Amino acid sequence: MNSDCLFCKIAAREIPAQIVYEDENTLAFLDINPVNPGHTLVIPKKHSVDIFEIEEKDWGAVMHVSRRIAHALERALKPAGINLGMNNRAGAGQMVFHSHVHVMPRFEGDPHKPWPGHPYAEGAFAATGDKIRAALNSESD
Ligand code: 5GP
Ligand code: ZN
Repeated sequence: MNSDCLFCKIAAREIPAQIVYEDENTLAFLDINPVNPGHTLVIPKKHSVDIFEIEEKDWGAVMHVSRRIAHALERALKPAGINLGMNNRAGAGQMVFHSHVHVMPRFEGDPHKPWPGHPYAEGAFAATGDKIRAALNSESD
């Protein structure tokens, strides 16, 4: 528990939340400012800042629960589709620095669109693949 952390406080029931699921390692609750009604956040109970800090075991648990939440949203709200997302670091739009996955129901006609794609510059497609393959081959974590 990080006493300065909003989501740790939610997990500790120090701040009220619409909790929809809980188990030993994870908690899922409604986002207070949703993309659409039903937008749910899935967190590990153990504090970690982001994808770079979360332990493999907690990440697995969060993924498992995110899938369950997606299926529950599907049954409960009949959305047109569901996006999963995670913001890591301020540079990617993270505002609450406790790891969380967004499970976001989407409805026909809602104003939210997928992120835009941009084509690679000449030669950059293969070069980027090379860089990432090299990083994976030299990984230490
Ligand atoms: P981030 O940008 O860090 O990925 O998203 C943080 C999310 O937490 C935002 O979507 C925001 O609406 C949500 N949020 C911020 N404060 C609270 C809160 O006090 N309670 C709940 N349930 N959600 C919150
Ligand atoms: Zn925390």
